[in-house]
Amino acid sequence: MGCATTSQEIKTSTAEHEKVDYFADNGFGNAVAVVQHPAGIYHKGVTYVCYQGPLEDPYVASYHHETKEWKGPFKAGVSEMGKDSTRDKIDNHGKPSMLIDDAGTIHIAFGGHGGMSIQGDNPLGNYHYGKNMHIVSKKPLDISSWEISENIPPFGTYNQWIKMDNGDIYLFYRHGAHRSNWVYQKSTDEGRTFGQPVSFLKHKRRDDQPAVDSWYPWIAKGKGSELIVVFDYHICTDSNVIAGKNMHLPKRYNVYYMVFDTQTGIWKNAKGELLDIPLTRELADEKALVAQTEGSWTFQGVIDLDPEGKPHIGMTIGEEIEGSRRSAAKTMCHFKFDGSEWVASKNTGLPKGNGDIEVKSADEIHFYIEAQDENDLGEVARWTSTNGGETFQKTKVLLQKSKSNFAISALIENPHPDAQIIVAQHKPGTRFKKMFLLGENGPVMRDKKEAQRLKIEEKE
Ligand code: ZN
Repeated sequence: MGCATTSQEIKTSTAEHEKVDYFADNGFGNAVAVVQHPAGIYHKGVTYVCYQGPLEDPYVASYHHETKEWKGPFKAGVSEMGKDSTRDKIDNHGKPSMLIDDAGTIHIAFGGHGGMSIQGDNPLGNYHYGKNMHIVSKKPLDISSWEISENIPPFGTYNQWIKMDNGDIYLFYRHGAHRSNWVYQKSTDEGRTFGQPVSFLKHKRRDDQPAVDSWYPWIAKGKGSELIVVFDYHICTDSNVIAGKNMHLPKRYNVYYMVFDTQTGIWKNAKGELLDIPLTRELADEKALVAQTEGSWTFQGVIDLDPEGKPHIGMTIGEEIEGSRRSAAKTMCHFKFDGSEWVASKNTGLPKGNGDIEVKSADEIHFYIEAQDENDLGEVARWTSTNGGETFQKTKVLLQKSKSNFAISALIENPHPDAQIIVAQHKPGTRFKKMFLLGENGPVMRDKKEAQRLKIEEKE
């Protein structure tokens, strides 16, 4: 008996310490995206990450870089979406984004896609589904227990958090479904209370065709007290009848830019000309336009400043596919402001795929991009330019998987070199996604037993 037991023990302990390159296997739908950001924050030696898990609920995990200890993922809240079995589509709009305030409390916003009329009047837009929610960690830097903070409207979606150097917190989001204003709310007391929503991008019915102006901005920290905004335009048409079916098409065009000085409350364009908010399409076209993309669709801008304070933009741009609800992967394109005008880089060598930008200097620019080749080899890689964005070369592959593609997050806030971006692996035939935390050394490894969350949850 002794020998048999010993041999079994050895087997078990070997299995226990088998490492895998993912940290969880319960990512759900598009578990992460660039828009809901940050989805990860490095803070005092630990990287915190969040993503959409089973039933579209928000999950949070953490990795201690010195002890190499993983915690979680813990289910941090319960989304109002993802529970109704009569809806066959995964909504995906309510995935979580996070912020850590100066007291160490972790904040997550999630669960909204415009809210519903039963929740009350939405003065700034229309409805779709879900309920935007704000939850906070019960204890500082402790991801194991959470409580609801009922202090934001239910109508938000695409939450984007920014903490300023003085501790002020900004929550940016769209205040409803497609036909809604984009707003921010400011908190000066660690997110306990927020000021009223302030609209900065205006939805408006067009008088030249049956459609409504709509927007997709992405907001990041600029110089000092400034925030920088890259955005594209969505023409939300009343109907697109294709083969007898009315389809909503993701018609997104153009690249725009503006700056918000949070100290003065002033909004301006790259040249420093003042902008009235909420910005209308007419004013955006006149004053905030970076590039027109007529005939091509855009998707998901990202932005960073070079050390001289000049903005660099990444925007994916691709063929317009009439009749197709989903369009093919778009090419990452680079734009920069040279001090007097916007310059579009041509023939950069960048691939088709989503990702984020990091500008090290006026010459050195990095993109982190998920892409897939013609053999269905999925890859997350860093692409580097040393000539100010004219051309890019693939300088590092962070992750590669056959017959896969990846959903990618924005860059982690203040990232540790070993943990810069979060991705979810999409493999045909799998309902749940493996989640990876990627950095200079590729994926951060984890004990297989711990990473297999679905098995753990089944037992619970
Ligand atoms: Zn629309």
